[in-house]
Amino acid sequence: MSRNQARVQAVSQIINRKPKEVTMPEPLSKIWASDVFNLAKMEEALSKNAFKAVKTTVQTGAPLDSATADVVAAAMKDWALSKGAKFFSHIFYPMTNATAEKHDGFIITNPDGNAITEFTGSLLIKGEPDGSSFPNGSLRMTNAARGYTAWDPTSPAYIMHTDNGATLMIPSVFMSWTGEALDKKIPLLRSNAAMNKAGQRVLSLMGETEIAALNSSCGAEQEYFLIDSNFANSRPDLLLAGRTLFGASPAKGQQFDDHYFAAIPERVQVFMQDLEDKLYRLGIPAKTHHNEVAPGQFEIAPYFEAANIASDHQQLLMTLLKLTAKRHGFVCLLHEKPFAGVNGSGKHVNWSVGNATQGNLLDPGSTPHDNINFLLFCGAVVRGVHLFGPLLRAVIASASNDHRLGANEAPPAILSVYLGDQLERVFNDIKEGKLLKSEVGGFMDLGLSQILKFERDPGDRNRTSPFAFTGNRFEFRAVGSSASVSGPLVAMNTMLADSLNWIADKLEAELATGTSKPVAAVKVLKELMEAHSNVIFGGDGYSAEWHRAAVEDRGLKNLPTSADALPAFREESVVKLFSSTGVLTPVELESRFEVYSEQYLLSIEVEAKLVVDMATTMIYPAAVEYLSQLASTASSMAALNITLDSGVASAVAQEANAMMAAVSTLSSALEVHDFDSTEAHMQYAAGTLRSLMVEVRGHADKLETLVSDDLWPLPKYSEMLFIK
Ligand code: ADP
Ligand code: MG
Repeated sequence: MSRNQARVQAVSQIINRKPKEVTMPEPLSKIWASDVFNLAKMEEALSKNAFKAVKTTVQTGAPLDSATADVVAAAMKDWALSKGAKFFSHIFYPMTNATAEKHDGFIITNPDGNAITEFTGSLLIKGEPDGSSFPNGSLRMTNAARGYTAWDPTSPAYIMHTDNGATLMIPSVFMSWTGEALDKKIPLLRSNAAMNKAGQRVLSLMGETEIAALNSSCGAEQEYFLIDSNFANSRPDLLLAGRTLFGASPAKGQQFDDHYFAAIPERVQVFMQDLEDKLYRLGIPAKTHHNEVAPGQFEIAPYFEAANIASDHQQLLMTLLKLTAKRHGFVCLLHEKPFAGVNGSGKHVNWSVGNATQGNLLDPGSTPHDNINFLLFCGAVVRGVHLFGPLLRAVIASASNDHRLGANEAPPAILSVYLGDQLERVFNDIKEGKLLKSEVGGFMDLGLSQILKFERDPGDRNRTSPFAFTGNRFEFRAVGSSASVSGPLVAMNTMLADSLNWIADKLEAELATGTSKPVAAVKVLKELMEAHSNVIFGGDGYSAEWHRAAVEDRGLKNLPTSADALPAFREESVVKLFSSTGVLTPVELESRFEVYSEQYLLSIEVEAKLVVDMATTMIYPAAVEYLSQLASTASSMAALNITLDSGVASAVAQEANAMMAAVSTLSSALEVHDFDSTEAHMQYAAGTLRSLMVEVRGHADKLETLVSDDLWPLPKYSEMLFIK
C-alpha cells in the first residue's frame, strides 16, 4: 500500500462531494431573532411593570430587583421549554479566547417522584462553575476553587439547537469568590462604564445639557479558511495546532489575485447560507460575505452592534462557523496563519462611541457644535494610541497573530493612527494654532467650516495602517482572526476614558479662566496634538523606511513578537490606566499577563513538539523509504550495467540528515525549563524555539519537493487550497 493512500482517497472523495442538502431557508421576517429571548419576547411574556424594570436594566444598566428576576426567570423558562429546551447554561468567556458553558437541567423531582421543571430568579442570576479550572493567572488556587457566573441582562438569552434537543444559553460574567474578574466580559462592561463617565464629563463641559449614556459599538470583520475535512483530519498539525507546520509552497499561490471577490464556490455558498440562517435566528446581523485574498479564504462581517453584544455575538459566530463547517464537510480554520506563504486571517474591529442624544461622536457630522465634540473625541483617541500603543499591541498578541503582524500582509507591529489627508490637515492646523485665530469672529467661521465639508469623505483607505479612521469609526486592523474582540475593545474604551478625563481636566481649568468653550476646546486640542501627533501616520506602514522612522524619529515602539509585547501589561502607566479607570485592579491585570504569557508559551511548545513528532514519524520515514526504493532500483540497474545518477538520492539523504539534526537540537531545546522570569522564557520561545522549528521545516519542505509523490503522507498545499 502506498503511503499517500489517505491523500488519494481524500481527493477522490472530495471531487465527488456534493453540496450538503439543506432546506430552502425561511424568509428573514420569520426567522429573525426567533431563538432569542429579547425585549420584544419579554414584553409579550411579562407584566407591564416587570417589563419596564427589565427594559430599564437592559438600556441603562440599572440594577434589577430579585422579585423581577424571578418573574423574568419564569418567563424565560416557559419560552425555552416551548422551544424544546430541557437544559440551561450560563455561557461565559474565560481569559482565553474560548467560550465556556456549564449545563444544568430544568428538571427537579417532587416528593411523589414526578419530574417537574424549575427555574428561579436565583438560578438565573447566579451559577457556580469551578473557578480554578480555567486559566486564572494565580487568582484562584486549586484548593480555593469557588467561582461564580452571573447573568448579564444586557445581552439577551438564546437557544442553541442540536438535532435532538435545545439548550437555553444565558450570557454571563465570570468571577472568583473573592470578586475578581476571571473573564473577558467584566472588563468590557467596566471599560464601557469608564468611557461613559469620562465622555459625559467632556460633553457637559462643552455645554451639552441632555446626555444619554454613551456606549461603544463594534463591527468585526471575520476572516477564515475552509479546508475539506478529509484533508484537515489527516494532518496532525491542522488538528492540534490549527496551522500547517510543514508544507512546500505550491507552484500557484495567490499571486494571480484570482480568488479575492471571485465567485464563491457552490459548496461554500451553501455553507454560508446555512450559517447565516442560524445567525439570523440568533439575532446576529450577518451583513457581508465574500471570498478573501488567499485561495480557500473567506470573510463574514455582521453589522455593528453595542460592543458587549457584538463581543458575545462574535464568540457565538466563531462557534457556529466551526460547527456549521463540520456539517458541510469542511474544517473552519480561524488561525491567523494556517498556510505559510499565503495571506493569513485577521479580524478588523470597527469601533465607535456614541449615544442617543449626541449620536456617533466619531462621526464628523454636519453642524459646528457636533464637530467640536468630534474633534475632542477623535483627538482623545489619537492621544490614547500614542500613550498606550504598546498596550494595544499587547491585547492583540498571540503566538498565532505573530505570524501575521509585520509580514507585509497585515499591519506592522508598530501602532500608529491613520486619519486620512483631510483630517490630518485639520489636526495639523490645530497644532499650529491656526484655528485659534478664528476666536474673534466665531470660532467656526475660520477653518472649521471647511473641516465640516469633508466629514463623510475621510480620504483614501490605508490598508497598511493598524489603526485607521474610516469615516465615522476607527478600524483596529491588527486584531487576529481567532481572538476575542473583547481585549481590543477594553483597551480602546479604557484609553479613550483616560484621554477624555485628561481633556475634561484641561477644559475645566480653561473654562474657569473665562475662556469660551470652543476656544478652550481648541487650546486643549493644540496641547494634545503637540504632545501626540507623532503617532499620526498616513504613509506606507509596510515600508522599511517607516520601520526605521517610527522608532528612530518618532519614538514609537516596534514590538514584533508577543514576547516583546505582553510585558506592556506590567508597565506602570498601564497598571495606572486600568486602576484609575476602575477597569482592572493591579491584581486582575497581572493575572492577564500571566494567562496570556502562559497561553503563548503553551502554543509554541505544542507546535514544537508536533514538529519533532511529525518530522520523526511521518516525514523522515517517507524520505528513507524513497531512498531505499532509489537504492534498490540503482542496484538492479547496476546489474544491467546502467548507472542511475545519484543526485536525487544524495539530496534526499542530505536533507533528511539535516532535518533530523535540527529535530534533535529542537528536542533538547524543549528540555530547557530554567528561566529567571516569564519574560525571559517567552523570549526563548520566540527566538530559539521558533527559529529551530523554521529550520526543521526548511528541510522538510525541501524533502516534499524531492520525495516521490506516492510516498508523501501529508496533504499538500496545492490539494488543500485548490481542490474544491
Ligand atoms: P470594509 O471591508 O470595507 O472595511 P465591511 O462592510 O466589510 O467594510 O465591514 C465594516 C464593518 O464596520 C461592519 O461590521 C460595519 O457594520 C461596521 N461599522 C460601520 N459603521 C460603524 C460604526 N459607526 N461603528 C462601528 N462599526 C461600524
Ligand atoms: Mg471587509
